[in-house]
Amino acid sequence: MNREMAKMTWKEFDQIKETKPVILPIGSMEQHGYHLPMQTDVIISSGLAKMLAEQIDGIVAPPVNYGYKSQPSSGGGPLFPGTIDLNGVTLIQLVHDILVEFARDGVKKMFLVNGHFENEPYIIEAMDMVTKEYDIQLVLASWWDNITDDVVEKVFDEVPFPSWALEHAAITETSMVMVFAPELVHMDRFVEEPVYHPGPYYKYPVQKGMVPDSGALATARTSSLEKGELLVHGIVDEFVKIYKEALV
Ligand SMILES: [Zn+2]
Repeated sequence: MNREMAKMTWKEFDQIKETKPVILPIGSMEQHGYHLPMQTDVIISSGLAKMLAEQIDGIVAPPVNYGYKSQPSSGGGPLFPGTIDLNGVTLIQLVHDILVEFARDGVKKMFLVNGHFENEPYIIEAMDMVTKEYDIQLVLASWWDNITDDVVEKVFDEVPFPSWALEHAAITETSMVMVFAPELVHMDRFVEEPVYHPGPYYKYPVQKGMVPDSGALATARTSSLEKGELLVHGIVDEFVKIYKEALV
């Protein structure tokens, strides 16, 4: 069965919109080191969304392809060519407008899958605004918040776990892109860099040299398809639990 809304006719969507949950992947257009594509966050959130749709009998909406401003300490920052950032107000309005349209169409439940660290507060703002106006239930889950300790232990078997903010273009993202778009992973271009320790502050204007040259914030060296499978199945299991707890 086709679960991708973009490939449905409006009649097909019309018949199921009030009974099935709609899953909205949200990503970014952001550098991901020398070895991963710039739509990594979209590839991961869309891949997880498709797996979730199979489990909860859902529909996958077209993804939000751009996200909030990349921060040096969690995404490398705005100075890399190809990192295309949205202002906070733009992202709030964009997500708001999309959610309102689904609510007006009669969709009752939506599961938002976030793949970009910096997006969260702006998505939450849009969710709050929409649910004050419309009768729709919304849930947001970011993949890194839904990895159990035993999966973390298995994924970081050789390298110490750096932190979720620093897991940018690193083992978790690289391993998951190996699952969803293996042809876009270029491990031959990966360069090992010194461990990056950002200070506990934000500095503007952002300057060159604040982050490793490649844009990867932690090593991707021990990434593997096997770790990717472990991650995506573990995350989707947690998403299914969230769906059953929060949206049914
Ligand atoms: Zn990413």
